Amino acid sequence: MGRLVLNQLSRSFKNVSAVKNVSLTVEDGDFLVLLGPSGCGKTTLLRMIAGLLEPTSGSLELDGTDITTAPSKKRDLAMVFQSYALYPHLSVAKNLAFPLHVRRTDKQEVKKRVEAVAEMVEIGHLLDRKPKELSGGQRQRVAVARALVREPKAFLMDEPLSNLDAKLRTATRQELAGLHKRLGATFIYVTHDQVEAMTMATKIALLNGGQLEQLGTPEELYDKPASVFAAGFLGSPATNLIDAELSTSNGSITVMAPSLEAVLWDGETPQRDVVLGIRPEHLSIHAPGSSAAAPNSGAALRGIVDLSENLGSEQVIYCRVGENRVAVRAPRGQYWGPGNAVVLSADAKNLHLFDRESGRRLE
Ligand code: ATP
Repeated sequence: MGRLVLNQLSRSFKNVSAVKNVSLTVEDGDFLVLLGPSGCGKTTLLRMIAGLLEPTSGSLELDGTDITTAPSKKRDLAMVFQSYALYPHLSVAKNLAFPLHVRRTDKQEVKKRVEAVAEMVEIGHLLDRKPKELSGGQRQRVAVARALVREPKAFLMDEPLSNLDAKLRTATRQELAGLHKRLGATFIYVTHDQVEAMTMATKIALLNGGQLEQLGTPEELYDKPASVFAAGFLGSPATNLIDAELSTSNGSITVMAPSLEAVLWDGETPQRDVVLGIRPEHLSIHAPGSSAAAPNSGAALRGIVDLSENLGSEQVIYCRVGENRVAVRAPRGQYWGPGNAVVLSADAKNLHLFDRESGRRLE
């Protein structure tokens, strides 16, 4: 079991409001990633869940029990720290047994639990080693195993991969996702890294300035960003965001901006200021006048090529469109030289519209 309910949770530090009215439910077995830029309140939120920091207001419930003021030790939650905090002079087996000795668990029982957990995270062959004789990924597994012997209701992790180099981070990320699947346990994981969030999470809570910006599966956040912020945060290169005007023209709903015209579908809409979002992979690049350049429905942007970046497997072409710089992903073989006039087009189904004032998505 490990169902956690956050209800209007807030925390201030003097005049800094670090977390504001966050409400969300983490279901048993979820891998929830708390994602957002530096300073958005991720760690503060995790520390409140762990019981290391008291909320200023709001409440927390674990499996139906109110734990808002319960001390950290009584919460049945296991925090896995960035540094892994393993005892360097103890073997892996003794590191794993440590939390059980503290609880005065029977010797036979300790041995049984340590062996069972070691098998679960596949470190049975490492039990006699010291932490310094392990790779970063193995150390991480030992840290998770040590948390696991206590049979916690959920694992809490704060940027556990940030000390690893890029290659090891990828391997450990995959290992952690696999571990979550095998254990079926609840994980709550803090990161500012969108790739970690996209690849490991079953649910992402995107935070912005202490507030919950969007909660959903990685696919929901990517395919249907709830706000300009969400559209800009997920994706690399970032979503192109262009100020435009939504109105009706000849019975169709259209989006207009300098050097840009998008016809959405038949209908009528009141005129309003919007932000149009288009992901770089949803744009295709054409010579002006080519038939592919003028879709019946969808967007056509007239631009001038600024520069292209070769990423090895593909290229990103940056174009000036009116006042905007628009990024397009394109296959390697195409050549579009700087200064060339081009038309960029996108399907209507791949256009995201946001109200300019509130920043929220328009349905
Ligand atoms: P990062 O990714 O950089 O670790 P974060 O999203 O985890 O950032 P928090 O550490 O939760 O952000 O901080 C949120 C806000 O609260 C920040 O503005 C931070 O400066 C502030 N803050 C955090 N802890 C304290 C504290 N003990 N005293 C005063 N302000 C604090």
